[in-house]
Amino acid sequence: MQQRWDFNEQQQAALKTLIQDLVLLESPSGDAVRIRQVMNRLVEESAAVPNIEVEWQEQGGQPILELHRGQSGPLILGHADTVWSVGTIDSMPWREENTEDGLRIYGPGILDMKAGLAMGIYAIRQLAENIPFDFLVTPDEEVGSGASRSVIESRARDAALVLVLESGMPGGALKTARSGVGDFVGEIIGVESHSGLDPDKGASAIHEAAQQILWLTTLANHVLGTTVNVGTIAGGTRTNVVAGQVTLGIDVRVQTSGEMHRIESTLAHPPAFDKHTRVQYRGGFNRPPMEPNPASTRWFDRAQKIWRHDTGEELLGSRVGGASDGNFTAIYAPTLDGLGAVGKGAHARHEHIEWQFVRPRIMLIAELLRAAGSQHQ
Ligand SMILES: [Zn+2]
Repeated sequence: MQQRWDFNEQQQAALKTLIQDLVLLESPSGDAVRIRQVMNRLVEESAAVPNIEVEWQEQGGQPILELHRGQSGPLILGHADTVWSVGTIDSMPWREENTEDGLRIYGPGILDMKAGLAMGIYAIRQLAENIPFDFLVTPDEEVGSGASRSVIESRARDAALVLVLESGMPGGALKTARSGVGDFVGEIIGVESHSGLDPDKGASAIHEAAQQILWLTTLANHVLGTTVNVGTIAGGTRTNVVAGQVTLGIDVRVQTSGEMHRIESTLAHPPAFDKHTRVQYRGGFNRPPMEPNPASTRWFDRAQKIWRHDTGEELLGSRVGGASDGNFTAIYAPTLDGLGAVGKGAHARHEHIEWQFVRPRIMLIAELLRAAGSQHQ
């Protein structure tokens, strides 16, 4: 183990200021100007890192920032966008609260993931000059990463390890498996007719939809962790008209790529219970599932040792239903997710971080980068 880091009061205050600056620079997805300001603040803060190179790209009008040293170093992944619109800070201000569990800090986007970005910068500052790294900051994670996905994937292909700065679970657990998320729309076309005069001439899209919904629920698999939720339904015009059209909105979550392919191929050829209706499912999986594998499990074991050494506590790994950019990278490189701040309320008004986790988390990120970076030389 390397010399342990003295996280003195001055450094703590400087880190808090950086996190506060990032939170106050509100940066909703799609606001390229503000997202660039957040990235600029990170560039400024990383200036002291020896031999660091700063690279900017633009994809779909959105900036992507890459801070790196050397080639093919371990990849650190973060996003500068949040789900909060500009002005949220007025009703959800930066607030520090001392609780019996320690200091909590509230603010829009602090947990997801302004604090994580700042911690990433502090972690690379810990590294000796000969350790390579690649810190990629994207602008659009909260809206599915359409602009940045290809860059993320290409960097993950070159990386021995990917560390994702999404928030950890309460208590600090990492996210070692994530569901793949499918977003489908079912379109059912029937034949309209007068419900009293010509009922037999019609084919009800609503009656068909009822059968389709029951069929969709049979696609779930509790053993393999596949869930299917028909979350929205719209259609029909009047009670005395046989319905000509129905639209279903469907959320599917899978834990394995096998299940992802099964759902995709099943929905591509749906049954029609009433042969006079037409049924079609559009859409697909925004992100594949993040599945643990032997390589990521070895890195997780390593993370547990570091955590135990630094905190005396056990580091747990947990499976979560939500997806992140870790879902993209896990296909190409061992990925540990949830390395960022620890707290509660991502995407909620009580969003906050717990300060006591900040230091051990930075140490953990730095130690993993060191291990992966020295392997690669
Ligand atoms: Zn996030």
